[in-house]
This record gives sequence, C-alpha cells and structure tokens, in this order.
Amino acid sequence: MRRQVLHVIGILLVLAVSCAAATERQHRFSTSVKAQEMQVLFGDDKKLEQAVAWCQSGGIQRVYLETFRFGYQVEEPLLEKTKAAFRAGGIESAGLVTPTLIGKPSSGWNVVCCFSDLETQRRTRAIFEFAARHFDLILIDDFWFTDCACSECTAAKDAKRVTVGETVYPVGAADWSSYRRELMCRLSEQHVMQASWRVNPKVRVIAKFPCWYDSYQTRGYDVPRMGKIFDGTWIGTETRDYDFGAKQGVPPTAAFFIARWAESVTPGKCEGAWYDPLWTTPATYLEQARLTILGGASESLLHSYGYLSLTEAEGRQWDDVVTKLGLTGVGGLGSTHGPANFAALKLAMPELIELARQTGKRNLAGVAAYKPANSPGREDENFFSFLGMTGLPLVPCSTFPDSAPAACFSMHALTLTDAAQRINDYLATGRPTLLTERLAKALDGTLNLPCSNAVILPSGLWRLLDLPHAELDALRAPFLKACGLNDFHAPNRTGLVLFSDGSWVISNFNDHSVNVAVRGVSRDVAARGYACHWK
Ligand SMILES: [Zn+2]
Repeated sequence: MRRQVLHVIGILLVLAVSCAAATERQHRFSTSVKAQEMQVLFGDDKKLEQAVAWCQSGGIQRVYLETFRFGYQVEEPLLEKTKAAFRAGGIESAGLVTPTLIGKPSSGWNVVCCFSDLETQRRTRAIFEFAARHFDLILIDDFWFTDCACSECTAAKDAKRVTVGETVYPVGAADWSSYRRELMCRLSEQHVMQASWRVNPKVRVIAKFPCWYDSYQTRGYDVPRMGKIFDGTWIGTETRDYDFGAKQGVPPTAAFFIARWAESVTPGKCEGAWYDPLWTTPATYLEQARLTILGGASESLLHSYGYLSLTEAEGRQWDDVVTKLGLTGVGGLGSTHGPANFAALKLAMPELIELARQTGKRNLAGVAAYKPANSPGREDENFFSFLGMTGLPLVPCSTFPDSAPAACFSMHALTLTDAAQRINDYLATGRPTLLTERLAKALDGTLNLPCSNAVILPSGLWRLLDLPHAELDALRAPFLKACGLNDFHAPNRTGLVLFSDGSWVISNFNDHSVNVAVRGVSRDVAARGYACHWK
C-alpha cells in the first residue's frame, strides 16, 4: 500500500515537473481594461461579449480589470458581470488599481496624489480593500508615487517624520527622496499589503515600476524595499518611438535595461512587463514587445483593451475623461495605431513566444552596466538606455561588478561613497572599462587615468547614437573580446543581446535595413527588424 502511494506521489511529481516546464516555456500575453473603459463600454452586454471574443481570438490569456482610475471606482455589479463574462470565455481575470486622483491632489503632476494627506491614505486603503475582495491577484499601475511638495509634505519632510494612519515613522534624512520613499513604503505595508491580506488572505499584490528608472527614488519608488514588501514586481516598458517629437523619446533598449536591472535588485521578483500602443507604429510596437521579452519578462501585458481595439476617433465617441478633467501626460480611450499594432502583434505572437522560450533558458553575457539601487543618473540620466543602442551587449546590475569581464560606469556610480577606489580596483584588473566623460570629470584627480584599458565616452546621448560605424567597431572590439565575441560589425542604432552560450539577438532600430557581421558571417537585418542565433 505504502509503495503504491509512493508510486502515485512519484507520478504526480513527474507530472508537476513537466507541467512546470510547460508553463515555463509559454509566455503569457494579457491585457487590461481600464475602469473608464469598463464603465462606458461594458454596460452594453454586446460590447462585453466582443471584448471576450477579442481576447479569445487574440491569444490573450489573462485580463486585468481595473477597479479604480482617475477618481472613479467601478460599480460592483458591473465588475462582477465583467468578471463572469471573461471567466465564461475561458479568460482568467485579475485586479488592477491605478492610484490617480484619490483625495488630495499633488502640487506637482495633476493626476498624482498627495499621500501625506490622511484622508487620501484612508481612501487609498479602501480602494485596495475593494480590489482584494474581488481578486486574488492585484497589479498596481505605475502611479504609486508622489511628487507633491505642498506645505504638509514639506513640513513632514523637514521634520523627518512620515505619518501613516496613526503611526509615525522616522525618516533618515530631510530630503524629498528619503521622505517619499519612506512614505510610499510604509503606505505599501500598512494600507496596501496588510489591508488587502485582511480582506483576502490569498491575495498577491504586485507593484509595477515605471519606465523612468533614473527618477524612481526622487518620487518615492524604492526598488529594493518595495521588492520585499510586494509579492512581485513588474516593469513599465512603454518606450514607444524614440525618435518621435524631435528626439525626445526613450530608446527601446530602455525596456531591456530596466527589466533586467530590477531583476538584479530583487532576484526572482520581476514577473512581467507592460507596454501600450501610444506614439508607436506597428514596427515600433513590436520593438517594445521584443525588448520586453529580451528583458526576461514571463508575461506581457498589452495595455489596454480600449487602446488596442479602438482608434482615437472611435474612443472619443464614447467618452474622454482625460479631456474633461484636463489631465496631462495620460491617454484617453482609443489610440491612433492601436488596432493596427495589435493586428501586427497577433501575427508575430508565435515568434515572440519562441523568443521568450529561448531567452528564458539562457543567461546574459556582456558588459556590466552598473546602476546602484536608488541612484540618480545626475547628468548621465538615461545613459544606459542609449548605450544599449550602440551594439554593446549589456548586463544590467545593481551591485558593483567586481568580477565582470568588462564594465561601464557613469554618474550613477557616485552613489557609492568609495566610487573612485572601487573603479580604480576594477581598472587595475586590466579589464576593459568604459567611463562616461562626466564621471571621469567628477572624479578627476582620484581615478588612475589615463589607463590603457579605459575608454572615456564623450558626453551627449544623441551624439552617441550618431557615432560612425568604424568608430563604433573600434570602440566595441575590446569589450566584445572580453565577453567572448571576437568578431562583430554593425552600424549604430543596432542592439546586441548576448548570451553566455554564445547565442545572440541583434535588433535593428534604424528605418532602413543594415548589414551586420557576427563571427565572420554577414547578414542583412530588415528595418526595425531583428535576427537571432541560438546555440
Ligand atoms: Zn502633499
């Protein structure tokens, strides 16, 4: 009898392992339904049925139903009806909270809240309790921060004291970063996690970090602490089209950098990423999709159903709360290229799933891109996003890369009190070292420069993207050699993701095809396309 039981347990274990392997291989695509979308569209049962069918035919496995956004909480009967319809259609649902326009507004961005205000805190708690009553999984969109500098916030900051409910917590220093990080972490513990658990002990709550990684700490995002407080973390990888609006965008390689960097801060915690179709075309939308997967995400959330199923003009027919409330920096119901982008993504889904499968079983190789936790970029803000466009394969990291085969250092390193000593020790190993001009100047007189293995990269992010092909080949050569790639030639605005087994993925971010050569084999990579080689 005992042997039979053991045999059954054995079979179950084998099944469990193979199921786990199968799950591991399958990248999940999900979408979200914004609270206002639910409000104006799903009152009509036909529109709700259309949304379920849209997910079913589009390979969407999970839908995040937003219970709160822009001061509006979805009515319970509507939420229940929506949940039931997706469940009946075989689509899993989860909760989503976008903490905007709750109570007292911030003195800064007009969608953000003043979370020092006790009534705003109380309302926030009620919003999460409501979500936890309806869902076992809740995702918090990346407005879980504050930029408020009202008199109440300023007084609390100066007094080095955070008050959450009836509890007062000390703050390490009287600066905005220390105050806001303490405030948002304590609020996360007390009014999000503990409040949600009390309502639903099974609930998992996930915080999504925004795309603007160099400003996290000044607005209250503390990745190491929040990685521990929350059950998981996500990344906003909405890089959009980097060249839109006269060079004001963020390069697509930012998505890869942030996702890998966050994972290095709290290993095993970064579960998924989210991007939208705003200011993208099908080509740049697919870039976001690929870079998100190369960033290691196991789930891609295509935000949102409204953006992807309605054009901007169609969306305006229904409602535009953004215009009505005069909100800045946020989208309305539809989007210009959303439906076309989603059609392109549906076609690309099988190859994206394969890209995820191949990426998921390999480790990165390359140049250590060092950004300590909570480090501001200073004058090198966004440096890593741009560096990734030069064909240097990066391995984002949050701890000092003492043993990396090659490394690059920027103003972010100044967060270390002994930055010069650590960098000098690294230089002394003889390994290729890239330093930004600004960092070299900031540490002038303390770094052992010039040095034969050090390269100083001139300032100017957009200038970096215009470095000529031959100059880039020469710059990259010693770094690639140290990473085991002796032969690589590619023009600028080409991204290289390198893996420890020698596999690689090359992305072409140019609007024309480019010729690249890897280990003696040359090939053309289509405009905004990619090529990969798996060992
Ligand atoms: Zn305030």
